[in-house]
Amino acid sequence: MPQLRAPRGTRDLLPDDAARFLRFAEVARGLTERYGYRPIETPLIEQAAVFERGIGEVTDVVEKELFRIAPRTEESEAWALRPEPTAGIVRAYVQHGMQTWPQPVRLTTTGPMFRYDRPQAGRYRQFWQFDVEAIGDPGPAVDAEIIELGLRFFAEVGVQGAEVLLNSIGDPACRPAYLEALVAFYRGHAAELPPTERDRLERNPLRLLDSKDPAMAALNAVAPRTVDHLCEACAAHFAGLRRHLYALAIPYRIEPGLVRGLDYYTRTAIEFYVAGREGQQQALGGGGRYDGLVELLGGRPTPGIGFGLGLDRIALVLDEQRGTAEAAGPGHHDAPDAVVVSADPADTVGRLRIATELLAAGLRARADLGHRKLGRQLEAAGRDGAHFAVILGDELAEGQVQLRDLEAGTQRAVAISDLARELKRGASQHRHG
Ligand code: AMP
Repeated sequence: MPQLRAPRGTRDLLPDDAARFLRFAEVARGLTERYGYRPIETPLIEQAAVFERGIGEVTDVVEKELFRIAPRTEESEAWALRPEPTAGIVRAYVQHGMQTWPQPVRLTTTGPMFRYDRPQAGRYRQFWQFDVEAIGDPGPAVDAEIIELGLRFFAEVGVQGAEVLLNSIGDPACRPAYLEALVAFYRGHAAELPPTERDRLERNPLRLLDSKDPAMAALNAVAPRTVDHLCEACAAHFAGLRRHLYALAIPYRIEPGLVRGLDYYTRTAIEFYVAGREGQQQALGGGGRYDGLVELLGGRPTPGIGFGLGLDRIALVLDEQRGTAEAAGPGHHDAPDAVVVSADPADTVGRLRIATELLAAGLRARADLGHRKLGRQLEAAGRDGAHFAVILGDELAEGQVQLRDLEAGTQRAVAISDLARELKRGASQHRHG
């Protein structure tokens, strides 16, 4: 076992996985472009206060899972690696005065997030999210739009059976009364509460509802539900969302225990699952409305909604469903159009020069840079899946090469000046043939 390894909870995305993540990112880019989202990149590090304020200090994400960066000097501020993208994007929205842009501002990003969590299957310390945020629209139509976008992403990457869980968790008008009811309920069952939950009850009672402790399941099944305690405005919002989803023929399930771990959520709470995999570790994505967040981070009161989809978990689900979805999905193959080989094993200059010309013409070409016999070079080109081999031999002096169709096994002389054009024609025939 080598001594130097990727840190615990992180992993290398080797070419197959990295190519797959790129494909997810391409699907995300294509979709979000069509839906009117513009790309944004915020730093992977932020002032820790962005997360402490924006996510809430009494949350697992900030209390236990934040990757803090120790300041190097007295004057430098405390930073942290981003555990999720929303707080940073909203910080940027405020910092750059995006409230003066046409609203809503639709933003998207795809990249790594960091949480100092106990590593296990589907739970990493560095993981990737595809994220969208629509800031400046109170909904509920945009809530439905964003849910539809999430489902379309799953469909386009080939995930089968993605489902939406939905809840409304109220707003500052109705939450206090709800929390009172919730706290009273749990106090009435104090003896049944595990110690960590009893401690949380005083600090963030909402968290008990999505507790991972199996001892809480029975209790939570009969706990007061947010949807039964919504104020009139929140109830109307939720009804509006359901009406829009109905009109779009989007099925969903109301999940009263869905309160999301982050403090800034109001009203709509969303989670994406694949049927049969519902469980704490299994959510493929989540999001919701955060009408209080812009103000919390120093901006004017502005509503917003967004979601983050976990690409690592999506890859795991696709692996499980492999053989159906993935085989049918748009595959990538990196086979070169042509490999340039030569009769003279030492002539790497000639091979590299021709290959460079083909690359400049936009072809997928590569030179065989080994010093081996022509037969071995041709074998290697075949193993790479190349459609053609360009063979440099004696005719090079007359400006000619041999073009060998490796699949058909045929070969003919071609002028170097015609080579790129011939290869393009041949490559497109192969692709469509
Ligand atoms: P959250 O903000 O916790 O709801 O996360 C949104 C999505 O990101 C989840 O539904 C997961 O798909 C993914 N995710 C969150 N934490 C992790 C993690 N530690 N490892 C892998 N994926 C994660």
